[in-house]
Amino acid sequence: MSATTATALRHDWTLAEVRALFELPFNDLLFQAQTVHRQHFDPNRVQVSTLLSIKTGACPEDCKYCPQSGHYNTGLDKEKLMEVEKVLKAAAEAKAIGSTRFCMGAAWKHPTAKDMPYVLQMVQGVKALGLETCMTLGTLSREQTQALAEAGLDYYNHNLDTSPEFYGNIITTRTYAERLETLAHVREAGMKICSGGILGMGESLDDRAGLLIQLANLPEHPESVPINMLVKVEGTPLENAEEVDPFDFIRTLAVARILMPKSHVRLSAGRQQMNDQMQALAFFAGANSIFYGEKLLTTGNPEAERDMRLFQRLGIKPEEREEHADEVHQAAIEQALAEQRDAKLFYNAAV
Ligand code: SF4
Repeated sequence: MSATTATALRHDWTLAEVRALFELPFNDLLFQAQTVHRQHFDPNRVQVSTLLSIKTGACPEDCKYCPQSGHYNTGLDKEKLMEVEKVLKAAAEAKAIGSTRFCMGAAWKHPTAKDMPYVLQMVQGVKALGLETCMTLGTLSREQTQALAEAGLDYYNHNLDTSPEFYGNIITTRTYAERLETLAHVREAGMKICSGGILGMGESLDDRAGLLIQLANLPEHPESVPINMLVKVEGTPLENAEEVDPFDFIRTLAVARILMPKSHVRLSAGRQQMNDQMQALAFFAGANSIFYGEKLLTTGNPEAERDMRLFQRLGIKPEEREEHADEVHQAAIEQALAEQRDAKLFYNAAV
């Protein structure tokens, strides 16, 4: 589809407009989302990432949905920061099963100066394997963000989780403003953003709309927008949260697709609880990215074979890595780093 017919990117969505999308008849909403999707993407390609927990549990944050929070007793085995070689071995395995992006997650409030050299080695090693790199490490300072960009980090994941209004019901140890600040640092350093949220935490429709508005009204849309279905884990305050209506979940994916037409919308945590029909509907609504194979942080992920069987039944192929886009991205990082060095703000990870 030519650029002239493609939907223009907007950053000024209002609650009334987004509410109206949510209130459309289901078929009208899905038709609109699929139409937008086809303007920007091959509708039969889905990007596949693999996620590895590089440091598990004992997190000082109190996110009410999270089994890794040290505030709740979920019986989770805590693990220290994984050795670099083990991470690289897992990345090589992910590449062998067809993943194009390797995401590494650590349960931290923020990385310390002691952690940074190891984290940077992981990024460099995974990048050298020819995979795209993504990390989620908590709040980042400007200097840490720049060091990660220089090491070759392509994406940084930092979710907004929910609307600003509902946020305080879920997390009290980190503010919404801090999250937005970390996202701004990531952009400044020239990296791509992965940011989304979770459904099923007791939020209202307006909160779902509010989350998507926050993401869509950022100066640039996140390149990756994970939409998670709460996985209720015993021992967390949300273990008995009310189920999300599956159609409301699909509606949220469709609205995300319409608001952020060029972003990869990721069908993320909670996919294991979805049957094949629901996943197919999610792809039709505009989801075009999944976590594949490996464990999704501390909750299960459907087996790689099941995913590939579903892809075959639906005529979907995994998206290939865009080398050209990567070069452009690399150039953007180099330019951003050069500017930062000139500004004498460069972080020395060895200190
Ligand atoms: S979601 Fe992340 S920051 Fe929050 S408790 Fe879990 S690991 Fe920590």
